[in-house]
Amino acid sequence: MNLAHLLDDQLRHRPEKVAFEGDGRSLSYAQLAHLSENFAASLTTAGYGPGDRIAVVLPNVPEYALAMFALWRRGAVPVLINPQLTGRELDYILRDSQARAVILPEALLGVLAPLRSELPNLRAIVLGVPADEDLNFAGLAATPGQCPVAERHGDDIAQMMYTSGTTGTPKGALISHGNLLANARSGIERLSVTGDDHLFCILPVFHAFAFTAALVIMPLVGGSVSFEYRLSPKKLMEHLSDPRVSVMVAVPSLLSTILRFPTELKLSAALRCILCGGGPLPPQLEAAFAQRFGDLVRQGYGMTECSPYAAFSPPDRPSKPGSIGLPMPQGHKLAVRDPISGDFAAPGTVGELVVSGPHVFKGYWNQPEATSEAFVEGWLRSGDLGYIDEEGYFFLVDRLKDMIIVGGEKVYSREVEDVLLAFAPLREVAVVGQPDPDKGEIVRAFVSLQEGAAIGEEEIIRFARERLAPVKVPRSITVLAELPKSATGKILKRELRKQFAPK
Ligand code: ATP
Repeated sequence: MNLAHLLDDQLRHRPEKVAFEGDGRSLSYAQLAHLSENFAASLTTAGYGPGDRIAVVLPNVPEYALAMFALWRRGAVPVLINPQLTGRELDYILRDSQARAVILPEALLGVLAPLRSELPNLRAIVLGVPADEDLNFAGLAATPGQCPVAERHGDDIAQMMYTSGTTGTPKGALISHGNLLANARSGIERLSVTGDDHLFCILPVFHAFAFTAALVIMPLVGGSVSFEYRLSPKKLMEHLSDPRVSVMVAVPSLLSTILRFPTELKLSAALRCILCGGGPLPPQLEAAFAQRFGDLVRQGYGMTECSPYAAFSPPDRPSKPGSIGLPMPQGHKLAVRDPISGDFAAPGTVGELVVSGPHVFKGYWNQPEATSEAFVEGWLRSGDLGYIDEEGYFFLVDRLKDMIIVGGEKVYSREVEDVLLAFAPLREVAVVGQPDPDKGEIVRAFVSLQEGAAIGEEEIIRFARERLAPVKVPRSITVLAELPKSATGKILKRELRKQFAPK
C-alpha cells in the first residue's frame, strides 16, 4: 500500500519518460526512482524513520516529487506547507505537527531563521537542484544507497495537510496511503486519465486539489506533469499553448486571469479538460470561458478531508452549467442530508453535503474533538449546502457558515454574490452576514472594482434591488482595492468579518 510503489511500474515500462518538469529542470521516472531512493537512504542515515513528521516547504518544482517519494519510501509523513507562509503561521504548523525536520530550498532558509531559537531541534534539509546523481542534501550525509520501501498499510498516514483555514484555526488533516490511492483511482476512471496525459499544474501542490492530480494520479498512470509557480502572464501563456498539455487543474480566479489574456492566446490543441474546483465558479465566468475557449471546463468539488475529490463533471458528457458533477465512482459516496432531521434530502431540496467512502480522511492530528464533530452517523460533514437534481447531478448553494439568517429568512451569500458579479464594473464580490440587533443578521457586501471603473454604493444597491428579493439586498457595500484571499485564491470572508466588524 505504500505510495512509493507507484514508481515500480513506471520504472519497468517507461524509465526514460520525463515525469516532472519545471523551473528549467526535469526528472524522468528512472531519475525520480533512483534519486528518491538516495534521499530516503540519507534520511535513514540521519535517523529519520517511519511515522516521523517531516515538513515540506517547496513551491511547485520537480523536487516536490522527489521529496514526496523519498519520504513515502522511508515511511515518513510529509507535512505540506505553503512556502509563502511566514512567521506565526509557519511556527504554528511546525509546532503543531511536531515536525522533526523541514525540507526547503536554500532561498527559503531565511523564513526559518526567526523560528530557530523557538524550535532548536528542527533540522533544515536544503533540497538542492538534482543536476546529477551525486545529490548532496545539506544537513544530511549524502549516502547514495539503497533503502527498501517501508511497509505501509492502507490506514497509515501518507501526508498531513493543514486545512487552509478559511473558517478557523488550521487543523492537520491526516490523509492515508489508502485514501490517496482510492481517490486517485476513482479520479482516473471519472476523468479518463491515461499515461498519454500531460498535466499543467500551476495550482500549489501543497493544496489537496492539485496534490492528488499531480503527485498520485499522474505517477499512477505514467503520465507527465509541468509544474509552474510564477503566475506571470508570459509563463502562463507559454504553458497553456504547450502542445503536450492535455489536462489542467484550476480554481475560478485562474480562469478569470486567463480570460483577461489577449485574444491571440491559443490553448494547446491537445487540451481536453480544465478541472476547476476549490471555490464557487460564478455562472458568468463559466459561460464567458466556454464562449471563448469551448466546452473545456469541468467543475469538481472536494475538500482536503476527502483526499480531495468528492464529485466531478465527466469530461465525456457536455457540462451542466453550475453543477459540481456526479459523485466520484468506486465506492465514493456523496449525499444531501437535512442538518436538522438527519434524513437524506429528496432531489431539489437543499441540505448539507456529506461524504463517505475509502477517500475519507483519518481525522485531525491531535484533535479528537474536532474529528468527532466532523462526522455524523459515519458520514463526513462537508459544511457545504447543496442539492441534487433528478439526473443525479449535484449543485452547491453556499457554505453552511456563510448562510445569512435575516429576520428568520435564509439568504445564501453565494446567490447574492452571483447576482452582483453580473454587474460589469464589479471584479470581486464577497457577501457576509453582519450581526444586527433588530434582524439578527443583515446582508453586507464587500466588492472590488474592475480597472478604471468608478461606481458608488447606491448604483450597486440599485442593481441588486432590481434582481433580488428585498431581504437579500445588501444593506451596505464596502469597496476595497482587493479582497483578502488564501494562497489558492479563495476569498477569506473570515478576514473581512474580523477587519470590518462593527464597533
Ligand atoms: P477550511 O476547511 O479550514 O474552511 P478550506 O475551506 O479552504 O478551509 P479546503 O479543503 O481547501 O478547505 O476546501 C474545501 C471547501 O472548498 C469545500 O468545503 C467547499 O466549501 C469549497 N469548494 C470546493 N470545491 C468547490 C466548488 N466547485 N464550488 C464551490 N465551493 C467549492
